[in-house]
Amino acid sequence: MSHILIIGAGGVSQVATVKCAMNTKTFTKITLASRTKSKCEAIAKFIKERLNVDINTVKIDADDTKAVVNLIKDIKADLLLNVALPYQDLTLMDACVEAGIPYIDTANYEHPDTAKFEYKLQWAKDSDFKSANTMALLGSGFDPGVTNVFCAYAKQNLFDEIYEIDILDCNAGDHGYAFATNFNPEINLREVSAKGRYWENGKWIETDPMEIMFKWDYPKVGVKDSYLLYHEELESLVKNIPTLKRIRFFMTFGQSYLTHMKCLENVGMLRIDEVEHNGVKIVPIQFLKTLLPDPASLGERTKGKTNIGCVITGIKDDKPRKVYIYNVCDHEECYKETGAQAVSYTTGVPAMIGSMMVANGIWSSKGVFNMEDFDAKPFMDELNKQGLPWEIIEMDPNSNRIVK
Ligand code: NDP
Repeated sequence: MSHILIIGAGGVSQVATVKCAMNTKTFTKITLASRTKSKCEAIAKFIKERLNVDINTVKIDADDTKAVVNLIKDIKADLLLNVALPYQDLTLMDACVEAGIPYIDTANYEHPDTAKFEYKLQWAKDSDFKSANTMALLGSGFDPGVTNVFCAYAKQNLFDEIYEIDILDCNAGDHGYAFATNFNPEINLREVSAKGRYWENGKWIETDPMEIMFKWDYPKVGVKDSYLLYHEELESLVKNIPTLKRIRFFMTFGQSYLTHMKCLENVGMLRIDEVEHNGVKIVPIQFLKTLLPDPASLGERTKGKTNIGCVITGIKDDKPRKVYIYNVCDHEECYKETGAQAVSYTTGVPAMIGSMMVANGIWSSKGVFNMEDFDAKPFMDELNKQGLPWEIIEMDPNSNRIVK
């Protein structure tokens, strides 16, 4: 019996809100609030037509903590799911502390003016959440999110000690555009154009963007070029799995995407600082976002699959072990069910499940937490029920050969 307040009405919100409306035993009331109310109303209309569930819609500026506190109190929300942008994480966390309700998000805080991806400022709010007698659950998307839960499940059930993790993120979807991003273009392009970084033998090693590439055979997708990126779950997993000797993150990109990105970068379109254009100040990457297709509109035209998972190496009963835990998701099936493509789906479903874990008190504590801080099993069970089933493959510990 919970009233969930969902903030943000983009592609991820479309899926998270639809999934909450499919789980009305947990989410007895849903309020969807965002900057542009018409986007909330479009999601509400979809839910009414598909599921015959009514949800409330509200206009809100998530940068205005006071307004959010007032809204939480007015509607008597029990928990807040932030699927707006990473820029809003801190103001929304502060609102939850003031109102004394749990906070859930899918991406770590970023300041619009600095491409820094770190949990520092969010972890620093641990004592605020403890004093307010409530909790924050950080990074409940797919990566971060499900990837952390896969690692936690392996640590809790499959290994005595974990030594190496490679997180492998493949989107083999085709939307037919020469260039488009599958989630918010500004956030996506900041992430993939940043320096690469991985952790080995106790220290971080920096690489140039896209410097390290390897080919991986993704089950049900095929062999894809996979590039090393820095990704935020590396930071919390290094902290929470102290036996780790190495952790890396790889994402697939096609040559066309990389060529477009390089050109945009070369002409300054990925700049995040202000420039003056005809007497008007603009931020080039924000202007580019205006020109690119809205990710929420890609659903109808995207075909193909995603495959995201973790290859984990360590020991069990004194013997070396290597497992591959992954999920495969089909863009067209996601669209049929929720009106959104698989990148929004693989983020929105875990956002709902994380909220469900908190709403039902299955994951319950005081303070600020990452996904791997809790028992992974109930979350893994829900993934199977809510549309993101996973597989575990046993691999030869000394090669990439599948054993069973
Ligand atoms: P979109 O850009 O499609 O949607 C963002 C929504 O937030 C829009 O409706 C936007 O409003 C709203 N918004 C932005 N600023 C404010 C504000 N100040 N006040 C109120 N509402 C605001 O993004 P996505 O749906 O693609 O992504 C949502 C989140 O999911 C992002 O944080 C992204 O980083 C994260 N993500 C996480 C992944 C994971 O696996 N962990 C993967 C993919 C995404 P408006 O419509 O007016 O612009």
